[in-house]
Amino acid sequence: MAHIHNFSAGPCILPKEVMAEAAQAVVELNGSGLSLIEMSHRSKPFVAVMEEARDLVRELLNLPDRYEVLFLQGGASLGFLTAAHNLMRKGGSAAYVNTGTWSKKAIKEAKLLGDVREIASSEDSNYNHIPSDISFPSDVDYIHITSNNTIFGTQWQSLPQTNAPLVCDMSSDMFSRAINVEDYALIYAGAQKNMGPAGTVLYIVDKEKLGFTERPIPSYLDLRVHLEKDSMFNTPPVFAVYTSMLMLRWIKANGGISGMQERAAARAKLMYAAIDSNPLFTGHANLDSRSQMNATFRLTDDSLAEEFDKRWNAAGISGLKGHRSVGGYRASMYNALPLESVETLTKIMNEFAAVNA
Ligand code: PMP
Repeated sequence: MAHIHNFSAGPCILPKEVMAEAAQAVVELNGSGLSLIEMSHRSKPFVAVMEEARDLVRELLNLPDRYEVLFLQGGASLGFLTAAHNLMRKGGSAAYVNTGTWSKKAIKEAKLLGDVREIASSEDSNYNHIPSDISFPSDVDYIHITSNNTIFGTQWQSLPQTNAPLVCDMSSDMFSRAINVEDYALIYAGAQKNMGPAGTVLYIVDKEKLGFTERPIPSYLDLRVHLEKDSMFNTPPVFAVYTSMLMLRWIKANGGISGMQERAAARAKLMYAAIDSNPLFTGHANLDSRSQMNATFRLTDDSLAEEFDKRWNAAGISGLKGHRSVGGYRASMYNALPLESVETLTKIMNEFAAVNA
């Protein structure tokens, strides 16, 4: 296989050894004589996989007992609804911070259930920053934030402490930095960035916050139903859960959350240094809001795009094109991306800037 430097925003790079083990399990899981994808999800080997995945999440994040872990389906997009259905009371209200496309979609879904206040937004500046000096209300059922904005390349530098229960979409920075889970009522994250393949969503929920909405909840959206059934209310996405479990093992073996945090900091430092030191490039996100996961930037002279694109393509770099709502480029640097890939990209940026200076 050609050596590709994979900067894709998600689905994205996973460690080669994780993919090799996942591929093997599709042929045969641990000498069972059966493929992972042809055995019952209620069989002993698969129940053990689900339990290990959950235990690894508990261990990596040091979860207190009142928090529960679920691996469900529907993407983070169903998480927008699930959050609202489980926490918004009948006739209730919630406060949302609008930091990008995904926050906006979460707001749209919550509006189906109650009064949604958008307490801060960076939409007017094409979401190039995380709003500051936000006054968080305490008279709402919950507050919702998106910790990392995959499309715009912004990230909350420190996560807020609020009086109302805090809900966070952590799809694109889960397991990349230390968090204090006790600050949250609910965390949800699609697996397909830092944690595994597409197909499953991790929910971490404070179970003491559930059961107060006074409104019927459709079964699939009701986290209590899933808790009661240990993530097996319906057939779980077995391949996605298994591969996420392998990725969680990999995270643990590579220094846990602090190991991931160190790697992310090293990659981001190198990447932003290349953007800032070269007048041919300019970043999209304000300095105080930059994401360690997705670095968004563009050329200051668009006429050079063809030449720049040729150079990074020739070096085996993939997935660098920015999202259409920002343009330019986006280097997504998730847990499995080696520093060497960022070194390759920044070398090209530096050489390109030297030639075109
Ligand atoms: N939230 C964030 C922050 C995302 O980056 C994405 C997907 N890129 C989503 C939500 C939606 O996730 P899904 O496609 O799994 O529904």
